[in-house]
Parts: sequence; structure tokens; C-alpha cells
Amino acid sequence: MAREREMQQPTVSYTGHPHLLAVLDNAPRHAPPCNECGRPCDSPPVFRCAHCDFNLHLLCGPLPALIKLPGFLDESLTLADSYAEDDSGEYYCDFCEEERDPRECVYHFGDYYFVHFECAKPEVLRSLKGEREDVELRTLGKLIPGQVVNKGSNSQTTARGEKQITESTLTLKDIYDSLTEEELMEFKNLSIPSADISSDYATSFPYSGDAFKRLLESLDAITVPWEKLIKFYKLDTKVVDVGEHQITWDFANIMNTVLRKHKDLIAESRLSPKVKTFVFVLLCDVVYSMSRTKIEDVTEQMLMNWWGRLKVVQRANFRVELVRDQLTRVVGAYFGLAANKFNERATADLDEQIDKLSKELEQLRESREQHQKLVESASTIITKCLDDASALSYKTVGADLLMNLEL
Ligand SMILES: [Zn+2]
Ligand SMILES: [Zn+2]
Ligand SMILES: [Zn+2]
Repeated sequence: MAREREMQQPTVSYTGHPHLLAVLDNAPRHAPPCNECGRPCDSPPVFRCAHCDFNLHLLCGPLPALIKLPGFLDESLTLADSYAEDDSGEYYCDFCEEERDPRECVYHFGDYYFVHFECAKPEVLRSLKGEREDVELRTLGKLIPGQVVNKGSNSQTTARGEKQITESTLTLKDIYDSLTEEELMEFKNLSIPSADISSDYATSFPYSGDAFKRLLESLDAITVPWEKLIKFYKLDTKVVDVGEHQITWDFANIMNTVLRKHKDLIAESRLSPKVKTFVFVLLCDVVYSMSRTKIEDVTEQMLMNWWGRLKVVQRANFRVELVRDQLTRVVGAYFGLAANKFNERATADLDEQIDKLSKELEQLRESREQHQKLVESASTIITKCLDDASALSYKTVGADLLMNLEL
């Protein structure tokens, strides 16, 4: 179809895909959604393997971990998923001197020099297209590694990351299928069966203290039935070793970080290692998803998903108080923002109605005035006619007629 547009030579090797990816400046028409986030992949530039119809948004794919920028040639700038150098609440891009959102990815040199991703994009694209030497890549969030294959080195037709993927032939399904009956029971017991809980919350949402209590209650009452739990897993995902644990390849780096931060994470869990793998995937998914979501984008459905999954992780006796505390704060913040939004909307609605009614009232007043003027313009004839009316007021209107006849 749009083959000629896909002439850009594939240059990007990425652990998440067995072939090299090309960086396209035009998004292919009718392309399937982004393989990472599932949203339409129609805003270029995009990563693409035309061979497999595999597409990634620029920000969903592997990005240069380091870049050099004109004007700041001495030092490399490092990619950070987010970066707030202080508590000032005001953060700037030193390249364009406009403000920057510290929750968005940025290239920076220590606490001194920051460049918007957008401002660094031309250089990012040059790096990705093989115009720079030795470019190491990594994705945001999941830290999935990759590399750029330089122009001219055409001997390389397969991705350097390929080895890592094909070497681990094990998938989550292999682990699942190898569970003993006991282990499967262990796993199933982590699910939270449905009970008959009336949830009158959700339809109307008055933002009172009671409503907040109900929100917390409904979160606590979340169930994760076995069918739903097992459906969460993409069982064909490849599995890799991280220390003595196993995890799906895409969460390996997150799991490393989580284990480093929470040393006693699994100290109390008596689960078999295989079932632990499934719990790790669930936990990493919550941590990953939470760390990529801004507070104003949080929806109730997200809260429900995170909370439910975290409950399962807690049933596995994983020590996740920190995550849980953070999530509780998020629930509060969500409620506050939702209340504000609701109030703003309600106030705006009422203002609009008041405005409309005020205009109608104004119109009625004008009509009344108009009417008064018409009456005044006819006042001579009306006065004359009223004289007749008062002359007739003590008789029936035909009384004089009969009196005349009698004469
Ligand atoms: Zn995407
Ligand atoms: Zn491919
Ligand atoms: Zn900028």
C-alpha cells in the first residue's frame, strides 16, 4: 500500500521485537495500533517493522539513553523518565526556556541543564536513524534495552537483541502448564472470589465525606475472581531469569528495581517460586502502570484495577505497604480532583442557566415596556371609550332602548 513511504532503512534493534525497526517520519496509513500502549499509531515519527506490521509510538519505543546537543557539546545529556531537580514547582527547558512538566521525560545534565524531549527530538531522530556512533537505547518505564545499527554496516540484518529473546524459549504458559496441582491451588487461592456486594456507589457521585468512605469501601470490596485473574496474563510472553526469580522479559528491569527498593518484599511469602513469578508480574504491572500515569489522568477504572491486583499481591504475603500507601494517597487525590471537576462543571451549568434565564427575563421586561408604549399611543381613543364605559356602568347595555320605546 504505502510501501514507498517505508523506504527508511531499519536501524533500531530492540529486545521487544526479533527484527530491526525503522524510524518513519510518516505514520503508515491503516497501521494497527501501537504494540506497547494499544493506542492508534498515527502520529509520526513511529518505529515500525513492515515485515510484521509491528508499530510503536516514538515514546513507547527505545530511545537514546544519552545524546549530545549543539550548544552543549562537552557533556552528554541523559534520558530520565521524569525529573524534578527541586521543590520549586517551576521547571524549565534550558534549550527553549519554556516551562517543562517534571513528570515528563527529559534529557538532562545533572541538576543543571534540562532539555524537553520535543526540543531534543531532532537529535533523537538522527541518533535513531544511525547517524551517530554507538547509541544505546532504552524504553521509558520498562527500561527495555536496544541499540542502533549504524548506517553502512549492512552486514547486520537481524537485531542484536534477538539473541536474548530466542535464547529464553520459556513462556509464562510453559510455567503455568508445569504447575503441580498443589501449586495451581496456591495460585487459585490468590484470586478473590465475587461475593454479593451491593455497590450503589458508581452511578451518582456526591462528593461528601460519606461518598469518600463509600469509594474506599468499594475498593476494599473489589473481587478478582480466578477467571479474571488468569485472563490478566499474556501467557505467550517469554520469561527470563532475574537472580533466582523468573519474570516476563518486559518487566525484568522493573523487577530488578522493585527488588532493590523493597528488600524484604518476599521475605514472608511461602509461595512456590513458579506461583511467585505470576505475582511478580502482577506487582510489576501495577508499579509500571502507576509510574506512567499522571494524577489528572487517573480514572476510577484504573484505581479499581490497581487496587484489585495489589490485593492479590498482598494475599501472596508480599510486603507492598509502600505501594499500597502510595495508592491510598492517589485515591484521595483522585477524589479531590474529581470533586473539583464536578463542582466546576455544576457551577458552570448553573451559571449558564442563570444567564439564559436572565436573558429571558430581560426580554420579558422589554416586551412589557413595548406593550406600555402601545397602550400610551392609543390613550386618546381609550380615554374616550372608557367614558362610554363608565356611562354604561350602572345599566344593562340595552336599557335605554326599551325606555325610548315606552315613550
Ligand atoms: Zn504507544
Ligand atoms: Zn518484525
Ligand atoms: Zn524546550
